[in-house]
Amino acid sequence: MKRADNFNAGPAALPLPVLERIQDELPNYGGTGMSVMEFSHRSAEYEAIHNDAQTRLRRLLGIPDGYQVLFLQGGASLQFAMLPMNFLKPGEKALYVLTGSWSQKAADEAGRYGELLIDDWAKQGGYRDIPASIAGDDPSLRYVHITSNNTIYGTQWRALPKTTAPLVADMSSDILSRPVQVEDFALIYAGAQKNIGPSGVTVVIVRDDFLETANSDVPTVLKYSTHAQANSLYNTPPTFAIYVMACVLQWVEETGGLAGIVERNQKKAAAVYDVIDTHPNLYLGHAEKRARSEMNVTFRLPSDELTKSFLAEATERGFVGVKGYRTVGGVRVSLYNAVPVEAALRFAEFMQDFARRNG
Ligand code: PMP
Repeated sequence: MKRADNFNAGPAALPLPVLERIQDELPNYGGTGMSVMEFSHRSAEYEAIHNDAQTRLRRLLGIPDGYQVLFLQGGASLQFAMLPMNFLKPGEKALYVLTGSWSQKAADEAGRYGELLIDDWAKQGGYRDIPASIAGDDPSLRYVHITSNNTIYGTQWRALPKTTAPLVADMSSDILSRPVQVEDFALIYAGAQKNIGPSGVTVVIVRDDFLETANSDVPTVLKYSTHAQANSLYNTPPTFAIYVMACVLQWVEETGGLAGIVERNQKKAAAVYDVIDTHPNLYLGHAEKRARSEMNVTFRLPSDELTKSFLAEATERGFVGVKGYRTVGGVRVSLYNAVPVEAALRFAEFMQDFARRNG
């Protein structure tokens, strides 16, 4: 069986051993005679999977006591609305740092609920860089929102911004790709479908004392506290997606944990960026070097014709998902956790070869 060299931006590659395990367990999970899709979310079997996913995520990310780990639906996009619904009121302020299209979407939604301060420094520069500092010390700020990795533009926060307000991060495209100090955040959210599982489940990590300050005038199903109190079993959770996520997390633990992930991710990103840096007149990187994303490498070629022929050759050679986002163009290579090092090396070799012939 030939697996694709899959550089999709999300949903994205999953580890082959995980897919094989799921295939094996599908018709008869743990001797139940049923697949995970077919049994109750109130069953002991499901509860074990649910709690296993939570425990593994806590262990891998070092999530301390005093934080809730929630499994929600609606994608990161629902979080754009749910966050301000729970934590902003008319007259209250939040700071949104615009570093890409997704942070803009998050801000657009929050603007419906409260007053926004907008940091558009990165936007002004065409989303090539990450601000070195932000105005995060206003004591009236309810929270500060950042997008830790900008999937479309290929930039990533390397160091956290300093702020005295509660820090909230959309980590959809870099969760579990590198260590984080969870203590630095009041709330983290991430759709699973890039680094930790399939689409359908969104992870929210929220600090208890922040949660206690949430608005009460929110529909029950949209309150974080509803899900925290019910261990994310208030209503039927996306059981199969959570099961796949648990399998992915187990795979991470069995392949060197977060340290192993970091080592492999650094190798993959370095391989591709090295070729960009070796051929700066052919591969025009979008991100400033200091703001480069380890997850999404974005570049264009000097002409639309060259970009087109690069993409056509890439497709011909079996590289999947490397076309830039529709509003941005160019090339985007997503190197999430489950992309094998060898796949990134093959792509880097292709870039070298293309440069030899077109440089
Ligand atoms: N935030 C970021 C950083 C993303 O990359 C994406 C999806 N690509 C989203 C939010 C939106 O996620 P969803 O489709 O799960 O709502």
